[in-house]
Amino acid sequence: MRIPIQSVTPTSGQAEICGWVHEVRDLGGLAFFLIRDRTGIIQVTIPKKRTSEAVLAAARQVSRESVVRVTGVVKAIDKAPGGREIVPDVFEIISIADSPLPLDVVEKVPADLDTRLDARFLDARRPRVAAVFQIRSAAMHAINQFLHNEGFINITTPKIVAAATEGGTELFPIAYFDKEAFLNQSPQLFKQMMMAAGFEKVYEIGPIFRAEEHNTTKHLNEATSIDIEMSYADHFEVMGVLEQLIVKTYEYVGETCSDQIANLEITDFIIPKAPFPRLPYGEAIEIAKKKIEDPIQYGDDISPAAERAIGAEIGGHYFIVDWPSAIRPYYAMPHEKDPGICKAFDLMHPRMELSSGAQRVHQHDILVQQIKKKGLNPESFEFYLRPFRYGMPPHAGWGLGADRLVMTMLGLSNVREAVLFPRDMHRLVP
Ligand code: ATP
Ligand code: MG
Repeated sequence: MRIPIQSVTPTSGQAEICGWVHEVRDLGGLAFFLIRDRTGIIQVTIPKKRTSEAVLAAARQVSRESVVRVTGVVKAIDKAPGGREIVPDVFEIISIADSPLPLDVVEKVPADLDTRLDARFLDARRPRVAAVFQIRSAAMHAINQFLHNEGFINITTPKIVAAATEGGTELFPIAYFDKEAFLNQSPQLFKQMMMAAGFEKVYEIGPIFRAEEHNTTKHLNEATSIDIEMSYADHFEVMGVLEQLIVKTYEYVGETCSDQIANLEITDFIIPKAPFPRLPYGEAIEIAKKKIEDPIQYGDDISPAAERAIGAEIGGHYFIVDWPSAIRPYYAMPHEKDPGICKAFDLMHPRMELSSGAQRVHQHDILVQQIKKKGLNPESFEFYLRPFRYGMPPHAGWGLGADRLVMTMLGLSNVREAVLFPRDMHRLVP
């Protein structure tokens, strides 16, 4: 029976392993193969004079990255990885790999990101690439567990929709029989409707689609969003949930992924400490004014350069609060005393925005007014407005980008590194 390579020890006796041919070295009388599976690497040593013709024939024919099955005696040997080797009785080629390889899995030849993404199946055989996705999996597990434990109900909402969440042009139109339809840019309206349905706490982890034409290291046209919505909560309460979720996710990854963190050569995996600072938008603008050359003033969006300047000043995760209502969506709740600002927030990593959220407007007539004020037509939002006429609890929520969370957690330079098959303006395959 096949055992994981990691579990083969010098005392294993007879062992069977399956994996890829990582490296081949032929020293005349001896041939060495490094065989790799997802758990590790082992040396297979073939003493040519004392090996069967069947094993020798397979060993001559096999190419790098072929899949093989090897059975043999495990011996202790100092110089090999893990201090052991297998001398094979059986060396079977299960699936031969063509040569040359489109990508060097051993990483002796560095490849650019496009080449790697074109051959993602080979790229992901590299332990350091696999490590990113193992950590992403652990992070998603921690997030699901945290939200489940907090009493959130996991929901799934449609990705094919008739109306934009926030109006605008960032939508992908699709052919939907004889109707106009789009890919949804956010589960916002649906998770709010579930507050009218009485679910009180909901979450969804799913794709969001943005037809944005920018070509940056932190934007994709298909991203994964972690969304929550919570009844009888204000913006402060959901900010608390968000910072707890971030801390718990880092803690879980720190506890369960030390091998992967080491593989990525991360020497300072720092768990953020809650509470994160709450920086009013006005103060954030003042910091940016002093530190960046481009003019920026109260009422502007916070540009990427401003994000980085403020991030450098704060030095860790932080929230920007008290945003001008004019630059937030219609569903953000205005402050009672100063409707010019609203109960919206962004969660920031020093490098970029990770999440946007707010207490929402739950009063039907104010919502209609605010939709109109943004130049949108309330009639297109009737399906969304209707629940607000039949008993809508006050509520708040946020959307957190899963890809950016993994990117910033691991210090990756491009969000595409955190996504298996990224979608951008230039990439639709594979
Ligand atoms: P940005 O200003 O950085 O483009 P945004 O304010 O447009 O982001 P939101 O609509 O607030 O994004 O979405 C909530 C979160 O979803 C963002 O903070 C981000 O983490 C993630 N997100 C949004 N759009 C994208 C995208 N195109 N690619 C990757 N992640 C995204
Ligand atoms: Mg945002």
